[in-house]
Amino acid sequence: MIEVVGLKKSFGTHAVLRDISLEVPKGGVVALIGPSGSGKSTLLRTLNLLTLPDSGYIRVGASRIDFTAGQRMPRDRELAAFRARTGMVFQNFNLFPHMSAEANVMEGPVTVQRMKKPEARALARELLAKVGLADRAEAMPEQLSGGQKQRVAIARALAMKPDVMLFDEATSALDPERVAEVLAVMKQLATEGMTMLLVTHEMAFAREVADTVIFMRDGYVVESGPARQVIDHPAEEATRAFLSHFH
Ligand code: ATP
Ligand code: MG
Repeated sequence: MIEVVGLKKSFGTHAVLRDISLEVPKGGVVALIGPSGSGKSTLLRTLNLLTLPDSGYIRVGASRIDFTAGQRMPRDRELAAFRARTGMVFQNFNLFPHMSAEANVMEGPVTVQRMKKPEARALARELLAKVGLADRAEAMPEQLSGGQKQRVAIARALAMKPDVMLFDEATSALDPERVAEVLAVMKQLATEGMTMLLVTHEMAFAREVADTVIFMRDGYVVESGPARQVIDHPAEEATRAFLSHFH
């Protein structure tokens, strides 16, 4: 479902993604772990084309973009079509502050997909119910807890019917007692067969829910394998050193 080959990105002279290749099969759940600055967010952002890579090939579902030298730059319409394949959830929710929970979820279908408002409202209600917020549809973001805001953000991403969901530290900004409710929604999505690539510091969650764990450092994939193997028995010293901070 996701295929990345030879992805590179530098900011000025700083090479942040050095040569990343990875695959996420349809229905697969892959967790990206690694120290701060290793390039995890940049990698996720390139998959949503929020950051354009310098070179490499990206496929999401049937959409492909090749940034290899000599290829023309994709047109805006291609970028938009590609972006619509992925739903992204950020650490800080990024809800529209002046819109209710329901309006936040309706916004993409109405403005991007030209869905009729009654249909979009019905979809929003259905998705808010799915994330356990059926009774908060009218609430404004400032009236919601962090965990509730993040669940609205997940519903909003799902409203675009993405092929894959990308989560960048979706629980890192939450109070500890709010983490579990968001992880539960993510786990439910995984169980339902959603293809997911997630950056997380929740090692127990990665170990339980992910099929594959990828350890990144300095813009490289250092180690990649079955979740329990990488987390319980890392092959590389760098992975072991990183994981020792979580015990
Ligand atoms: P964290 O765990 O702290 O979120 P990360 O693995 O997600 O880290 P990235 O956010 O991908 O790391 O950043 C990797 C490196 O790229 C960092 O050194 C960062 O400062 C740099 N970087 C990221 N975005 C930009 C940008 N737009 N311009 C310049 N440098 C950037
Ligand atoms: Mg990050």
